[in-house]
Amino acid sequence: MRLDRFICKSTELERPQALAAIHAGDVRVNGAVIVAAATQVHENNHITLGGRVLTLRPSRYLMLHKPAGTLSSNLDGRYPSLFRCLDIERAADLHLVGRLDADTTGLVLLTDDGRWSFDIISPKSRCEKLYRVGLRDPISAAERPELVARFAHGLALQGEASLTRAANLSLVHPTEALLTITEGKFHQVKRMFAAVGNKVTTLHRQRIGSLDLDLMPGEWRHLSQAEVASFR
Ligand code: URA
Repeated sequence: MRLDRFICKSTELERPQALAAIHAGDVRVNGAVIVAAATQVHENNHITLGGRVLTLRPSRYLMLHKPAGTLSSNLDGRYPSLFRCLDIERAADLHLVGRLDADTTGLVLLTDDGRWSFDIISPKSRCEKLYRVGLRDPISAAERPELVARFAHGLALQGEASLTRAANLSLVHPTEALLTITEGKFHQVKRMFAAVGNKVTTLHRQRIGSLDLDLMPGEWRHLSQAEVASFR
């Protein structure tokens, strides 16, 4: 990572202060004064600031129960940002691992570990996401087998060249379904039900991988080491 980023991730300094310290010649990498903030460094390097040896803060991994009417963004917009739920230091260092629509509730992951989040959202990971879906039009028992088969086969979404990946649909009520998908196209669940002539009225993400949401709306918690490792 860049030297200025390393300083921010290992001290209380914000970026302008980190830049000032570097330009002032206060930072050494493996004994040599470095004044170029863009210099790439590694955590194995011996990096000092004014003689103090710096080590990176450990990465953070959180789950949050996103309430309805919040934005999956760092900034407020038409709705408040879900970051308002995070009463935690340096919340701005965290990023979202995938987004939910403003009206969607449920499990979101946050971290400052870009590699971890990339591994989860990368299409190659085929990470399962389980959604509870409320539907406008009831689905009768007679219609179910064909619908389940269509979701399993893959659906043609408007504007997409390829079919959706096999998805697991089960009906828990004529107007309530559980859907597991392994990709994350824009508005995917809503578009999948639109493709079969229905409409999503409520959407809630209950699980990502083996991680099940166990919080009340607006609550967050740190993930355990085992939970973090379950995505690796
Ligand atoms: N699919 C959608 O349509 N919306 C979401 O928020 C998540 C998945």
